[in-house]
Amino acid sequence: MQFIQTRGQDENKKAKVTFSEAILDPIASFGGLYVPQELPNLGEAFLQKHLQSDYKTLALDMLERFEVDIDKKVLQEAIALYDKFDDSTNPVPVVKVKEDLYVSELYHGPTRAFKDMALQPFGVVLSSIAQTRGENYLILAATSGDTGPAALETFKNRANVKVACMYPDGGTSDVQRLQMVTEDAPNLKVIGIKGVFDDAQTALKRLLASQKFKEALDKKQTKLSAANSVNFGRIIFQIIYHIHSYLELVRQSAIKMGEKVYLNVPSGNFGNALGGYYAWKMGLPVEKIIISSNKNNILTQLIKEGRYDLRNNKVVPTTSPAMDILKSSNVERVLFDLFGEERTKELMESLEKEHYYELTKEELSKLQECFDADWCDDEEGKRYIKETFQNDGYLMDPHTATCFKSYETCTKKPLKSIVYSTAEWTKFSPVIANALTGEVDTKDIDALRSISKTANLPIPDMIKELFEKEIAQKTVIEKEEIEEEILKFI
Ligand SMILES: *Cc1c(COP(=O)(O)O)cnc(C)c1O
Repeated sequence: MQFIQTRGQDENKKAKVTFSEAILDPIASFGGLYVPQELPNLGEAFLQKHLQSDYKTLALDMLERFEVDIDKKVLQEAIALYDKFDDSTNPVPVVKVKEDLYVSELYHGPTRAFKDMALQPFGVVLSSIAQTRGENYLILAATSGDTGPAALETFKNRANVKVACMYPDGGTSDVQRLQMVTEDAPNLKVIGIKGVFDDAQTALKRLLASQKFKEALDKKQTKLSAANSVNFGRIIFQIIYHIHSYLELVRQSAIKMGEKVYLNVPSGNFGNALGGYYAWKMGLPVEKIIISSNKNNILTQLIKEGRYDLRNNKVVPTTSPAMDILKSSNVERVLFDLFGEERTKELMESLEKEHYYELTKEELSKLQECFDADWCDDEEGKRYIKETFQNDGYLMDPHTATCFKSYETCTKKPLKSIVYSTAEWTKFSPVIANALTGEVDTKDIDALRSISKTANLPIPDMIKELFEKEIAQKTVIEKEEIEEEILKFI
């Protein structure tokens, strides 16, 4: 399978690239993205075939239909990482919470958030491409909490890849910080920055664009790469669990094969939702994909009104920080799919220059055939956490909670909903403790104990152990010192 570009072609890039090429250099002509030239059509035969398959069998078959330039052995090795999840036979449990609402739990991996679903196998794939080419890569990551731990965990001790991960010191939860600073491997460097997430992100962008930094890396035979969420090497692994979750509903006799469902996705950069969109295009029976947001509700505005307006919008911090995003990068791939390359280029250029674009009426109704959306603020979110725990006995995190509002407002037909849960309660425990008991300003460790008692749930060992592990990564520096620090590490 070849990959084509969302904004057409300039002089510098090839018109079509392989999967490996799209992974190593994810930015296409005019700053666009790579997308598959066509999607494999799986249809109901594929669903029937895998009705009794385990996750890994389904995953391998789906990946092979994409005919990517990666050896089957490597794909098998990548997928085998799902064995590290809580239940290796079913890494993604789907739980009935209400009569017509099922939660697909994407957080049972090593870092307890859904980033593991894609980053775990992606680490194997990237390292294997680097080895085949005899090249060394430095992966730069800036994180506000979930991507950092997942990236470190997957690349730990992998050949031909080093990771430098920057986080805002004091700007993540204790659990998230400990997950990073206790990672000890010679190819990992974690850097705390005196500043906020935006400082880490700006530093990352500057380094990625710096010719001087590239030359310094060249001297050390190292190339630069990023494992961010526009990388198709991550997206491809996010199609699988949508198919799996649907099949789980059939297995649980919640639906009949072929019956449509709603997919309800707590969204930030739109990788998760895009995976669902592709699964649908490949033949999954979906009524609509519901995009759930927090107060940073730019996607609700796009889907309801056809306007993407960043002119007066600033990111507001919320209790679901992984969704505190205004530039939702993967939306571009949907625009391309619906409206083609010329129009996508026009819209994205308008967004860059005017910080604004508007769809035509026809375009908006095309978008609305696929998507619906709503958002929920922190107070409402807390109420959903508390009520769902009290009425349905189900404990969820603040990201997942945003879906419960849109489930109420957007589910128009009597069909089942699959809500995606993207983080375990342990990762955002102070907010959840506050929602359940009203306690405020609790430290992670105390909040974990309090929830554990209230909800009668054990604190998972891997979370408990974090608080006793040795701190291996002690660097905390000013943002001006980052470049030097990374070069020292290389
Ligand atoms: C990354 C993340 C999201 C957003 O996912 P996208 O694919 O970027 O839309 C939602 N919730 C949690 C907990 C996350 O870590």
